[in-house]
Amino acid sequence: MKLALLTTKISPLTGLWNLPGVPFDNCIDCPPPLPHFFTMRIVSSIAAMQHLARQWQRAGKRTGFAPTMGYLHAGHLSLVKRARQAVGKSGVVVVSIYVNPTQFGPKEDFSKYPRDLKRDLKLCRAAGVDVVFTPGDKEMYPCGSRSRRCESADEPRFDKRGYSTYVVEENLSRTMEGASRPTHFRGVTTVVAKLFNLVLPDIAVFGAKDWQQAAIIKRMAADLNFPVRIIVAPTLRERDGLAMSSRNKYLAGDLRRQATVLWRAIQKARAVVKRSKAVPAAKLKASLKQLIKAEPDAKLDYVEFFEPDTLVPVTKVTRGAHMALAVFVGKTRLIDNARLK
Ligand code: AMP
Repeated sequence: MKLALLTTKISPLTGLWNLPGVPFDNCIDCPPPLPHFFTMRIVSSIAAMQHLARQWQRAGKRTGFAPTMGYLHAGHLSLVKRARQAVGKSGVVVVSIYVNPTQFGPKEDFSKYPRDLKRDLKLCRAAGVDVVFTPGDKEMYPCGSRSRRCESADEPRFDKRGYSTYVVEENLSRTMEGASRPTHFRGVTTVVAKLFNLVLPDIAVFGAKDWQQAAIIKRMAADLNFPVRIIVAPTLRERDGLAMSSRNKYLAGDLRRQATVLWRAIQKARAVVKRSKAVPAAKLKASLKQLIKAEPDAKLDYVEFFEPDTLVPVTKVTRGAHMALAVFVGKTRLIDNARLK
């Protein structure tokens, strides 16, 4: 067994991070020397991740995977728990933390997106994660050597010369988030396909919080024959109904209160469909728009009612239909969704 290191450097050979006070083996072929709590691995290189994943496959270990953009909250950790449930104690749970530049539009919050890797690692360790995968932009979207665009660390998009392959879902991606954020799902499907190829998961857990995203990933996995089972875990909410989100960090002062309007809109729609058999979607949309307008800093982007699996919009809203909405609260764009039961 090789010597454990006590540095904060990323090993150039393995891409594994060595954390201060957390000795671990920098040899990826060796068995972990310490109990699980101390041996969570942080893998930053693509080659090291794929190498580990193939080892697990050969050893017949089941791998559960929860892809995230970090700044973790209890919603993310519920995906970890679900992944552990699915693969059991003998399986491996991987969380990726990667703020994927290709899913942000040019005017969106890529550079400001909240990041706190140290805190995320603590949470992952406490949640029993086996491996945290933290790839870098340059490896995920490499630049051609002649590309000048990629020389600036601030350049949010790395796709000009050295990277030109995308995964595009062409049906479910057209509405709602896809209509408001035209390149968003192309970025999501591309990064998730890449991550699936690197982590080789048997199961992958996504949150119902991003309902349309989960539907698109399920479709992508089926269409492209990824041998992975997609699990969709329920949305975790704050006590007042606000769906947990990394972006809630932006909600200062009264904006935090106003943000509950998304949940209030869902509850109102639920109450309406409970009272009447079928409500015209246009009428319900208009009344929810009014509710949202009553908040001084809230502006509705869209509200949609649709069939939950196909995402096909319904013109008459009945119980069992699904509702999704996006609302700007100040400058922060929040999304939420729920079944109208
Ligand atoms: P993100 O880091 O926002 O890209 O989210 C990573 C994963 O966590 C996605 O599958 C999300 O749907 C899921 N997620 C985010 N917020 C919640 C929440 N409040 N409850 C459950 N899952 C969530």
